[in-house]
Amino acid sequence: MATIPYLTLPHSGHQIPQVGFGLWKVAPEEAANLVYEAIKSGYRLFDGAYDYGNEKEAGEGIRRAISEGIVKREDIFITTKLWNSCHEKERAIKTGTEQVEEWGLGYIDLYLIHFPIAIAFNPKHTRGWYYDGEGEVRLERTSIRETWEALEELHDKGLVKDIGISNFNSQAIFDIFTYARVLPSMLQIEHHPYLVQKNLVDFCKDQNMLVTAYSSFGPQSFLELPASFPTKAAQTPRLFDQDLIKSIAAKYGKTPGQVLLRWATQRGLCVIPKSNHKDRMLQNLDVIGFDMTPDELELIASLDIGLHFNDPGTYLPGRPLRLFT
Ligand code: NAD
Repeated sequence: MATIPYLTLPHSGHQIPQVGFGLWKVAPEEAANLVYEAIKSGYRLFDGAYDYGNEKEAGEGIRRAISEGIVKREDIFITTKLWNSCHEKERAIKTGTEQVEEWGLGYIDLYLIHFPIAIAFNPKHTRGWYYDGEGEVRLERTSIRETWEALEELHDKGLVKDIGISNFNSQAIFDIFTYARVLPSMLQIEHHPYLVQKNLVDFCKDQNMLVTAYSSFGPQSFLELPASFPTKAAQTPRLFDQDLIKSIAAKYGKTPGQVLLRWATQRGLCVIPKSNHKDRMLQNLDVIGFDMTPDELELIASLDIGLHFNDPGTYLPGRPLRLFT
């Protein structure tokens, strides 16, 4: 089994595995078994979200592995996220508390604000961007400060052990520093060779925060979405097919996927690839045992075109929310 290194979360001192398993687009009926299999393959970190709609089932998979003595609760690290329609303080506290119950494991290790934007809550459509479930994007006047203070209360209660943010830029994070009692330990961002985000990653290093990369394979994840979903994934060359990635993979006897994950971990980031296939699950976990040269890391970074695939400025055509400006 591959050995996973751990990084230390700056404010709590807790340990987080550098490689984990992502749960976006995992069907709820498959989640428990997939998570259980992932634990047997060696995964210890699971990355979920309210919006993914599979937290309860993912928790069941973990509890099964615990009940069979494969792991203990403290061996497992759960990251999950607060959805945009639950930013209002009382709702955020209620939602976070309910998410802890859904996972059924006593506490969440790391709780993130999913996006730096509040949208109105509709009890009929609690997931996704659309107020009516179809095409209406309705914003809500809730500040990030109000939401951050809700996360701090969940932290005070011991329900979440570390708190952080996702899809934020440095300006928004600087603002959090002006009032935070509990500092953010993690920023989770889209990160791959087409979106290197060097300044943002350096900013986090300066500020003593860790960074998790999502969608490490670039367009690949977005090709799974319905053809009607507006991203640039289909028009973008696959990173797996880039000659540079293929030649570096051949040199080290690794797959292109392993090169992409190692490129991120060598930059000091955590990665959370998702796969439903046992062989790829194992492959994605085995991404630490080789080191590329600094020149190779730079060459890979030179593929940067600043391209976000997960961009509500593109995929909400009726009301683009241009967060990444
Ligand atoms: P990913 O980059 O992990 O890609 C997944 C796709 O790559 C799937 O199609 C899978 O079949 C394929 N794949 C996996 N391993 C492979 C391999 N070794 N070789 C070839 N193909 C392989 O994409 P992702 O799911 O978008 O990102 C990972 C996780 O990040 C998500 O599951 C989720 O937990 C998190 N995430 C967070 C946000 C956020 O807004 N914070 C957004 C997107 C994803």
